[in-house]
This record gives sequence, C-alpha cells and structure tokens, in this order.
Amino acid sequence: MAVAEIVTIGTELLLGEIQDTNSRYIARALRDIGVDLYRLTTVGDNIKRITATLQEALMRADVVITTGGLGPTVDDPTRQAVADTFNVELVFKDELWDQILHRFTYYNRTPTENNKRQAYIPANAIAIRNEVGTAPAFAVELGVKTLIALPGVPREMEHIVDSFVVDYLKERYHLEDEIILPWVIHTVSLGESSIDEIIGEMEKLNNPTVGLLAHPGQTDVRVTAKARSTEEAQRMMEPVLQEIREKLAENIFGENEDTIQSVVAAELLRQNRTLCVLEVGTEALICDALSEHLSPESLFGQLLDIDITHETFKTLMHEYRDKKHADFVLGVMLTPKEENLELYVALLDAQNIQEYKRFYGGPSGDAGRWALNVGLDQIRTKLKKMKGN
Ligand code: ATP
Repeated sequence: MAVAEIVTIGTELLLGEIQDTNSRYIARALRDIGVDLYRLTTVGDNIKRITATLQEALMRADVVITTGGLGPTVDDPTRQAVADTFNVELVFKDELWDQILHRFTYYNRTPTENNKRQAYIPANAIAIRNEVGTAPAFAVELGVKTLIALPGVPREMEHIVDSFVVDYLKERYHLEDEIILPWVIHTVSLGESSIDEIIGEMEKLNNPTVGLLAHPGQTDVRVTAKARSTEEAQRMMEPVLQEIREKLAENIFGENEDTIQSVVAAELLRQNRTLCVLEVGTEALICDALSEHLSPESLFGQLLDIDITHETFKTLMHEYRDKKHADFVLGVMLTPKEENLELYVALLDAQNIQEYKRFYGGPSGDAGRWALNVGLDQIRTKLKKMKGN
C-alpha cells in the first residue's frame, strides 16, 4: 500500500486569501485508488521552506504531490525547490516550450520571456502535459519515491489528476483496482432505532460495512463490500445480506432499485388483482406513484375532499369497490389533528375492512412520502399473506 502526502504551495493560502480546495480533490482521487494519505502541508512561496518541506515529506511518504507555484514569475518557486530537493539543475525542455507556444497560439497571445521559465524542469523530471493551461506539470522518480508537481489553478490540477496522475500511480505502485459494491435492503414500518436494536452488532463490521439510512416511513440498510471483483464483493456480502433478510424478514419490501410502489404493483399484476385508491390530504401521491407501474385497467384513483368523516369515507370505499369492480380499495386520509397529522388507512377487500391509525409529527414536507410508505405497506402485507395461502 502506497503512502502519500500533499504539499500545497502559495503564500495566499497562508494569508487566508484563498481556500485550499486542491487537497480535497487530490485526497479523494488517492482514496479511490487505495493510496493512504497521511499528511497535508501548506507552505508559502519560499524556495528554502518548500525544499525543506519536500525533503521531510519524501522521507516519510512514497508519493508527494504538490500544487501551485509553477507559474512564469520569479515568485513561482516550485520548480527550483524541487530541483534543490533532488540536488539537480533545472533544464530547458524544447518539447515543453513547444507545448507552451502551442497554448499561446491557441489563445491568440504572445508569450513573454518570462514564460520561458515554465519550460525549465528539474533535470531528472518527467514532463506531464498540461492540456488546459500553460504551466507544465512534472514528476520526479527516485527509487520507490515519487514527487509530482501540479499547477495551482484547480481546473488545470484536476485535469492532470484525472488524465494522468491516477493511472500513473496505479501502474507505478501496482495498485490493484478495488471495486466498491453497495447493496441496499429497503424496510418499511420499522424505525431506524428499532432496526438498530435488531442488527446493531452488524453495524460494527469492517468489510462489508452495514449502515442505516432513514427516510420518511422507510429505513434502508446499506451493505457495502470492497473487493477486487464484483463476484468477490458479492461473496463477501452474501452471508451478511442473508442474516439481515432473516432478522428483518417481514419488514423488508425490496432491494436496490425496488420501491414500495413498484413492489406492490408487481404483486397486484402477478395475482391479477385490481385496486382502487381513495385519498384525502395526500395530493393523490399514492395513485400517482402506482400509476407509473399500473395501467387504468388495474388501477383507479380518486382524490376526495378533506372535510369528510371516517364513516363517510368507508361508505365511499364500499361504493367504489362495487362500482369499479375492484378487488381491493385502499383508503388513505392524512388530516391535521392538533399539532400533528393523523393518518387513517383502511383496506377493503371482498369481505373485510382493516383499519389503522397513526400520528405523524415529522417535517410536513415529508408527510406525503411517509403516508405513501405506511399506506402501501398495508396492501403489501395483505398481498403477501394471500400469496402464502
Ligand atoms: P499558473 O501558472 O497556471 O497560475 P501556478 O502553479 O503558478 O499555476 P499558483 O500561482 O500557485 O499556481 O496559483 C494559481 C491560482 O490557483 C491561485 O491564485 C489560486 O486561485 C489557485 N490555487 C492555488 N493553490 C490552490 C489550492 N491549494 N486550492 C485552491 N486553489 C488554489
């Protein structure tokens, strides 16, 4: 495993005039290829201090990446500091000068004598093409150590990291490509803390990792494995997924791309059932969600007026069932009750009606989503039982 340090160069960073965003970008790129980043250092535009910083960093780390100080002016000190670090001269490179001239022609500008400075790099350095700016970047290899000097301008630095540094480090340090495979199990009707009690121990695992993500009325269990291949990652996570599936059995409605509406719709179609949805106070959210998966032959929806009693609502449910010849009628009412919202869910089939009441005290913007999950869970559970019979 290669170890890296980043050195950002620029007095304006130390004066607090600009914020160091370059380190963050490079840190993420290193993380993604499995290089451990141990230290970030910022140093001003002073050749001696930069040289000392680079020498120290190279004693500790395999890879030292610098940004900044590669411009054409006298106070752009990185080239000289790197040459001093390795005790070599700066040498003029024709190919870099051609590259600089080419960039200037492209922008319709004439280079100054100063720009010539940018064609000098340490004698032992490998020039790196900068396709988006004039400051050439370079790398110096010494045994297993590598120093990479990148421009300070974020756009230029990012381009070189993406187009060169990542592949270069992968090859030089034989970094095997590791893939990260996520797998999400969706649960409904159990809060984050209840799930935490059931599978809390698994959340301490290292690889795969298990984490919870709460949504209104839904909690996702996210399992993530890191491995050399998708197959290996799947093998590693399978026992963990199996244990979660067993422990949360009834509350799991789907995995990965599944949504509660896609699962309910698929089961209605499979069992060849028709559904009528009556809604109050939900802006017809439930019917809209289901209509993405069901045609009007198997789904009918109606949004009703808010001033309606539960009794009238139930009478209407019976009327709609008979009028529409529906196998099920799902009634969902979301109405204000003192400080909170009251959710009334009723599910009517050919014979019975099941009723259910819950209170919602969360953010009002999430209430619809919560009602959708809780409401659709009623019919999901019902369909599951029928499938079992
Ligand atoms: P160029 O010759 O293209 O200007 P350079 O290597 O000389 O590049 P600097 O002069 O050090 O780079 O910085 C150029 C500009 O890039 C700075 O004024 C600043 O806006 C930005 N910059 C430099 N370092 C950083 C950093 N660590 N994080 C974010 N922005 C930076």
